[in-house]
Amino acid sequence: METVYRICPFCEATCGLEVEVEGRQIKQVRGNDEDVFSRGYVCPKGVALGELVHDPDRLRMPLLKRGGKHVEVSWKEAFGVLAERLAAVRAAGGQDAVGVYLGNPTVHSTTMTLYGPPLLKALGTQQVYSASSVDQLPKQLVSALMFGTGLSVAIPDIDYCQYLMILGANPLESNGSMMTVPDVKRRLKALQARGGKIVVLDPRRTKTADLADAYHPIRPGTDAHFLAAVVNVLVEEGRVQPGRLAEHVVGLDEALAALAPFTPERVAARCGIPAETIRVLARELGVAESAAVYGRIGTCTQRFGTLANWLPDLIHIVTGNLDRPGGALFAQPAHGAGNAKGEAGRGRGLKMGRRKSRVSGAPEIFGEFPVGALAEEIETAGPGQIRALLTICGNPVLSTPNGARLERALESLDFMVSVDVYLNETTRHADLILPDVSPMERCHYDLAFSQLAVRNVARYSPAHWPVTDRPGDRDMMLRMIAIAGGMGVDADLPMVDDLIFGQLMQRELTLGTSPVAGRDPEELLAALGTRRGCERMLDFMLRTGPYGDGFGSRPGGLSLAALEAAPEGIDLGPLQPRIPEVLRTVDGKIDAAPAVVLEDLARLEADLEAQPELVLVGRRHLRSNNSWMHNLPGLVRGKVRCSLQIHPADAARAGIGPEDWAEVANGTGCVAAPVEITEGIMEGVVSLPHGWGHGQAGMGMRVASQYAGVNSNLLTDEDDRDIPSGTAVLNGIPVRVRAVAALQAEALAAPG
Ligand code: SF4
Repeated sequence: METVYRICPFCEATCGLEVEVEGRQIKQVRGNDEDVFSRGYVCPKGVALGELVHDPDRLRMPLLKRGGKHVEVSWKEAFGVLAERLAAVRAAGGQDAVGVYLGNPTVHSTTMTLYGPPLLKALGTQQVYSASSVDQLPKQLVSALMFGTGLSVAIPDIDYCQYLMILGANPLESNGSMMTVPDVKRRLKALQARGGKIVVLDPRRTKTADLADAYHPIRPGTDAHFLAAVVNVLVEEGRVQPGRLAEHVVGLDEALAALAPFTPERVAARCGIPAETIRVLARELGVAESAAVYGRIGTCTQRFGTLANWLPDLIHIVTGNLDRPGGALFAQPAHGAGNAKGEAGRGRGLKMGRRKSRVSGAPEIFGEFPVGALAEEIETAGPGQIRALLTICGNPVLSTPNGARLERALESLDFMVSVDVYLNETTRHADLILPDVSPMERCHYDLAFSQLAVRNVARYSPAHWPVTDRPGDRDMMLRMIAIAGGMGVDADLPMVDDLIFGQLMQRELTLGTSPVAGRDPEELLAALGTRRGCERMLDFMLRTGPYGDGFGSRPGGLSLAALEAAPEGIDLGPLQPRIPEVLRTVDGKIDAAPAVVLEDLARLEADLEAQPELVLVGRRHLRSNNSWMHNLPGLVRGKVRCSLQIHPADAARAGIGPEDWAEVANGTGCVAAPVEITEGIMEGVVSLPHGWGHGQAGMGMRVASQYAGVNSNLLTDEDDRDIPSGTAVLNGIPVRVRAVAALQAEALAAPG
């Protein structure tokens, strides 16, 4: 028996795990008490690491569709098919004939994060889509517009904060998102223990709401209305106190003036919150010793997502809490994020809309089109039509709007290839599936989440088990890059890796502010020794990063070797003020009034007149991670989790009893689910969790098929988007509900 320390790769909390292994068997998983960040915390998903690694349904060999069935083939054959079919599609339709969809787990893989961009570059396609436009783009867009880069996200300084307002987020179930915060419950309780206050606004009385000092139900999709009124009260009562931020902000007066129409009295009915309560909450925010506003899924996946993510940062500015300990701060990750490169305090800012999607004219943001446009780009003939699709670690049939239309579109493709560990609802349509290695067979360093963390830490897990009977994850990606780049199926992979690393190094050497600017590349390569692949890139990034050894110029600084010697990680301290150094806007200022945001206020004002109707929202569960962990028995056993939550008054109106199933329908689709009548949800709102709807023919997830549930995205409309960001509207969907007899319900719930 051996103890191995690993970073959990499943969710954004990035907990440190202590894994007992015997040979290539995982015997037990616990939280690592010594981990500098998570301090022993672990959730049921982390404990299920062994179930995932040993899951007999997890793919180990490539699958090729022959005669309508997936059969195992050798890696050589798989790469040969990939090269041949990609070439055929590109020869007929050009580079844009190949579309790409990047799923959420992509960003939890160091290899995919490092080699994904070179793969996209080699493909040369403009048809790029990702899970970002499913659930987080508004936050990234606003961060880029205000501060200069998409990951310059102001993170609540939860360990020092005295007043935390949470909207549309349930960190006790999600473990934090766009806020990397392991063991969030302990941290929230510590906030309360030091005399602080937590306020939750949500259509559901969530576990986080139960823990909070105050809970206020709010109508789905009205967070922006509420927050706009909060700003108005702060202005009206003379509480605009940006303090030292004032000299770094432009557009503040313009932003405040634009919000004038949104008085508490005007928004109260639409939000379902009395005007006086809005005033009280605004005052609490205004007088708190330190305060932060945290909004997540509910604020992103709605019609006013961009506004609902701009307003928290505007409030941080107005109350002087931006970039202040206890308020909202920017992380300083060890590997050197985009907001730590180049000239301090100035950058290129965001260029969006450099091109438009072919069919509905959706603007590009961060090089991507909104995922709601994917099906139409496959279905609509003409130059640039997607005829082949590459999906990487994603299940868009379940996770993106109007999954039924997307499934039909996938069936019409000339070629589809998926990198995935399961034969799932999406990959069952693929001609070729290339499985990734298990988490024990790859190295791990959190490139994305250390930029969103509530504390600066650096941790690294080397690959523990060698890969002998297949290409490792790096070589799989390198082979795909070589094929996409026209180097053929037999390209020399070390040479391809050297090329990619050379480009990374060259960029750094030409940055005047880099600790290695102007140094001899050969000298640096010698210092990196025999490291290759991710390890070489990570070592280089860490050593040239803000805490790095600068290849000798900063003795005692960080390197990959230092992280390898500290399996519990290295604590780099609490978040610190970084303004103005962190800014990467063109003028070096915080833009409090981005034009694209202010223009959207007219749409928000028009919505004040909207009449309330029954609407659907999603929900999180600690044992569920979007769609992909439902094949692990330890996570799906027990109480049925894919149920429709409904308020007793709505249930009575619809004639629905506690043992009934309900049909949920709208103009897009129809599903049926068992009901859960509860006062824990607002009247006029029903809730289904997302990520369910398994069990279709041709899938290879036997456990998930037994706990199928229904796909809530059969009810979401791919054309219904937050206008500035193009993000899908997945919350606040108008629906009708009615009781259905058990037999009829089973037929409605049947997959396919
Ligand atoms: S909270 Fe997230 S990172 Fe931590 S153990 Fe659970 S799944 Fe893993």
